[in-house]
Amino acid sequence: MIREKAYAKINLGLDVLRRRPDGYHEVKMIMQTVDICDDLTFEKREKPGIGFCIEGANLPADENNLVYRAATLLMEKRQIKEGVSITLHKRIPIAAGMAGGSADAAATLRGLNALFRMGYSVEELKESGVTLGADIPYCIRGGTMLSEGIGEILTPLSEPPACHLVIAKPDIDVSTAFVYGHLQVDKLSFHPDIDGMAAALAAGDLEGVTDRMGNVLETVTVKEYPVIERLKKMMCGLGAENALMSGSGPTVFGICKERETADKIAASIRKEELAEAVFVTEFVRGECEKYI
Ligand code: ATP
Repeated sequence: MIREKAYAKINLGLDVLRRRPDGYHEVKMIMQTVDICDDLTFEKREKPGIGFCIEGANLPADENNLVYRAATLLMEKRQIKEGVSITLHKRIPIAAGMAGGSADAAATLRGLNALFRMGYSVEELKESGVTLGADIPYCIRGGTMLSEGIGEILTPLSEPPACHLVIAKPDIDVSTAFVYGHLQVDKLSFHPDIDGMAAALAAGDLEGVTDRMGNVLETVTVKEYPVIERLKKMMCGLGAENALMSGSGPTVFGICKERETADKIAASIRKEELAEAVFVTEFVRGECEKYI
């Protein structure tokens, strides 16, 4: 049996450069793995095909699930005739801007590559993954990465200095397609300084990172859901270095120097019932290799 952890991500910075004629958006973002994960297991079974079940979430275990789609893709590509049973234990909030589905799909590509000894390289898994979703290539290895193109051009960056995170997912589901569909790239009055943030990471300068946090997708999602702005203000007011919406939202994260600050913010969010899920956690640190 193969076990895989599928880690969630946040975006320390997210910029959109332009909308391509094919409808995809060209992005420039800094991705960072956080210590919240789904667990997956992969086991061979006698019956051909894919058996799939989900624990911990009310999500249909059908052929639309990214786990099922990733498994089908790889098994058809390698013409695997044996069967597989997959279980997914869900913890990452769904439709949250934390790439939960992409992380599960990436873990499935890694898990089946190992289980059936397919011998695909990381690059080959990324190429398969991008056909299912733009964040999947990043999720194959995770870590701290600059993500460009539509998400398939990845450059490793220095990991951020040690700090603590408070992460809050309000009780609303946000469709990534809706947010990108309503983004007016030409009218953006602000672009986050992604290059400056990469330099601050290289210098180990936490304030240089937090001072440059920005996400252009807030222009769409915050207008729709004011609770996001409220959470950001609350986090900063209670001592976070800075706070930002992750991905297309609605999840908001705050970066704190002290664990106590993150705990205090989490307690206030719970008390005011501003979120359906609140985590106090950290970045996943260390070598990217541990994801493969
Ligand atoms: P991203 O940050 O990449 O935009 P997200 O965190 O906003 O992702 P997901 O949790 O990946 O969003 O889910 C988006 C939609 O994908 C859900 O509404 C769900 O129906 C579908 N989905 C398919 N497979 C999965 C999965 N394994 N886990 C969660 N959602 C999935």
